[in-house]
Amino acid sequence: MAFPITRPRRLRRTETLRRMVRETRLSPDNLIQPLFVCPGRGVKKPVNSMPGVAQLSVDQVVAEARETHAAGVPAVILFGIPERKDSTGSEAWNDQGEVQRAVREIKERVPGLVVVTDVCLCEYTDHGHCGVVAGGDVDNDATLELLVREALSHARAGADIVGPSDMMDGRVGAIRKALDADGFSRVAIMAYSAKFASAFYGPFREAAESAPQFGDRRSYQMDPPNGDEALREVAQDLEEGADIVMVKPALAYLDLIWRVKEKFSVPVAAYNVSGEYSMIRAAGLNGWIDEQRATLEVLTAIRRAGADLILTYFAKDVAQKLS
Ligand SMILES: [Zn+2]
Repeated sequence: MAFPITRPRRLRRTETLRRMVRETRLSPDNLIQPLFVCPGRGVKKPVNSMPGVAQLSVDQVVAEARETHAAGVPAVILFGIPERKDSTGSEAWNDQGEVQRAVREIKERVPGLVVVTDVCLCEYTDHGHCGVVAGGDVDNDATLELLVREALSHARAGADIVGPSDMMDGRVGAIRKALDADGFSRVAIMAYSAKFASAFYGPFREAAESAPQFGDRRSYQMDPPNGDEALREVAQDLEEGADIVMVKPALAYLDLIWRVKEKFSVPVAAYNVSGEYSMIRAAGLNGWIDEQRATLEVLTAIRRAGADLILTYFAKDVAQKLS
């Protein structure tokens, strides 16, 4: 049926009509708020490259978690900025570390909130790489054992979900096996399965103080042009026991979110990363873009591409506007 009988504009005429035929819904249920936990008390240290985002001490993280939960966001993901860094990142599995204390406090004071923890070593190593460095590169198999220690420490603190983000081969299987052996079979794994070596992580490295001190992460994170390889990474993580798989970043990789969802029909998360956040925030602060509309458009597009969950620094604000 063709024009003039068919007129798609008929259903765009009013907001009510548009609402009735809208295909994609963005709900607070889809959002996960990332939070950065730093040492100290009463600390709220703004991240210059991410206006509106701050490093928070444990007490402040709990307050922020409470507000985020009240806004309707079901989950937070915690990143730690430790007091001390060393070559192996040993603070990562300190049961009294910032993240571990924050998990315990949040689970006690905001019990309805799901707590996810980022499992990686780059915030904890003095060289800033995601694992043990040997011969100028990250040693995959030696790193696995340390990631397992970190994940177990987060599970002991009460994390509901652990999120390995290091991109070492075999880490999901190693963590799953260790969690099950230690009585944490209920703890889920959200694997950063297709994590690309992206320029869009720039602002995060200031937030998490995790910039590599030499070289870059291209020997373990994925090469941006590769799509089939992303599907193989996802398949491997699912085989090793991942409950949720992630594509990161989101915006330059919407095609992969779509392909992963189509092929595997499992819960898919997408990380709307720091660079994506800061571009919109900076343009909004300069009056160059309608920040609120741009944010909703972007997050809805990530949903439309097939993401069930979106990790985004906009989570609390957007949830407040949606409700
Ligand atoms: Zn890392």
